[in-house]
Amino acid sequence: RAKSEGRGTYRFFEAAMGVEVRERRMLEHGLRHAIARGEMRMVYQPQCHVAGGEVTGFEALLRWRRPGHGSVSPAVFIPIAEESGLILQIGEWVLREVCREAAGWPRALAVAVNVSAVQIHHPGFVQTLHDILMETRLDPARLEIELTETALIRDPERALATLQQIKRLGVGIAMDDFGTGYSSLSNLRAFPFDKIKIDSSFIRSVDRNTQTAAIVRSVLGLGRGLDLPVLAEGVETEQELRFLEAEGCQGMQGYLIGRPAAITEFHDLTHGTPAAKHGAVRAA
Ligand code: C2E
Ligand code: MG
Ligand code: MG
Ligand code: MG
Repeated sequence: RAKSEGRGTYRFFEAAMGVEVRERRMLEHGLRHAIARGEMRMVYQPQCHVAGGEVTGFEALLRWRRPGHGSVSPAVFIPIAEESGLILQIGEWVLREVCREAAGWPRALAVAVNVSAVQIHHPGFVQTLHDILMETRLDPARLEIELTETALIRDPERALATLQQIKRLGVGIAMDDFGTGYSSLSNLRAFPFDKIKIDSSFIRSVDRNTQTAAIVRSVLGLGRGLDLPVLAEGVETEQELRFLEAEGCQGMQGYLIGRPAAITEFHDLTHGTPAAKHGAVRAA
């Protein structure tokens, strides 16, 4: 069908693709210097107990502000960083930045860092992690690495060995975005995860859609059976929170409690008394 529409159409598509490729190349070029130029920063999103509501820690999320272009979503630049290999340098910067920051909080809150498949499969990853923990003196028990299942499928045996080494450092491992992509229940048993994070797509409408509710209930049952705490991502409404509370979900994060923000916005949590509850964070 495309052929019958003639050369003009073909040229149009080719040109459109050319723009995409150029844009991608420009982003990659920008990424190459983004850290050195101070364009990267971390934001933090609070995580809390569903029952009781006290904040237990934060997930660290990367932000890139491109001069003259505004901020670029990690959903756009992380894949480019992965394909170009730049994620190794960027990911190391992220780990060091987050560990250094967290080590300076008077309160020993937990901190979660997203780690890409490319990093996990890089032979130097565990050594780098070890060095950063030594250098920043962060208690490894406060650090959690978030991995998606796609990080495991390329070379499961090697991934398992790496995850076991990470555990030996005393660092926790969470399965991120559970229920999306290449989800396989056997991954939960085969790999030493400490936590399941239910993807936000399942939390959306969980209080209104019986099918979504059934899926979330079954993940919570799985967590109970495997003795793994479950954290719900992307909780936006009181109704979603009430459902999770009724069904015994342990942890949550989402706009309802707090949006990702500079850590200074959470000064009361990182420096204050451990009394903060849902309401106290929401004001941030
Ligand atoms: P993720 O690890 O699953 O992070 C959760 C995403 O959901 C974040 O998007 C967060 O801002 C967003 N979010 C949190 N609460 C809510 C909510 O209530 N509603 C909605 N609609 N969204 C919510 P963000 O920051 O854009 O990051 C997107 C993805 O990029 C992350 O998904 C993660 O896979 C990746 N990423 C972010 N920072 C890093 C990093 O430092 N390293 C690596 N390798 N990947 C990162
Ligand atoms: Mg995550
Ligand atoms: Mg996630
Ligand atoms: Mg994600």
